[in-house]
Amino acid sequence: MIKTAEFIMSNSEVAKCPKDTLPEYAFIGRSNVGKSSLINMLTDHKNLAKTSGRPGKTQLINHFLINKNWFLVDLPGYGYARVSKSSKKKFQRFITDYFEERQQLVLAFVLVDIRHEAQKIDLEFMEYMGENGIPFSIIFTKADKLKPKAIERNVAAYLQELLLTWEETPKYFVTSSSSAVGRDEVLNEIDKTNQQ
Ligand code: GDP
Repeated sequence: MIKTAEFIMSNSEVAKCPKDTLPEYAFIGRSNVGKSSLINMLTDHKNLAKTSGRPGKTQLINHFLINKNWFLVDLPGYGYARVSKSSKKKFQRFITDYFEERQQLVLAFVLVDIRHEAQKIDLEFMEYMGENGIPFSIIFTKADKLKPKAIERNVAAYLQELLLTWEETPKYFVTSSSSAVGRDEVLNEIDKTNQQ
């Protein structure tokens, strides 16, 4: 249960994130995947996720303190950053810094739109997480846009795609921000893993 949710700070650098060592749960995905809506739905606050973000493409790490006990971290939509002339691409630096430096991270939720086939950038991001040993679960968003059969079919297809490269699939949650579907399941997962 979320009793209190407070915006704490926005940062463009990991070094400036809260010094607290409270457990953190991060939410990340491509922009427009429904991340702000999901955070507002989970916390039962209409505009929590927007309070920190200026409109536009500001790339910030947003910390929200939940129940004075853990941080919900709203990470910016990811995209590739070109790191050299060799056309090698990586994710934006401060996103990878966040995952590689933030010891208090318990679990990341990688959001994907349930309507779409697995996208290359999402698969590569999950691969990056796996390679770096960063625990994550998948959150399928916007489930209200599909009928139950289509939800089943799309989730099964997504997991099949993952099994081409993974030995096992991560835990996943089906959610809808407009109907609060999946809210209890996600919050239970956080409760269960939060040792604080
Ligand atoms: P963000 O960029 O990932 O933070 O995405 P937003 O939360 O701003 O959502 C992007 C768009 O998708 C908005 O038009 C939302 O109204 C819509 N949206 C987000 N979540 C849902 C959902 O669960 N169901 C439906 N039907 N639309 C959603």
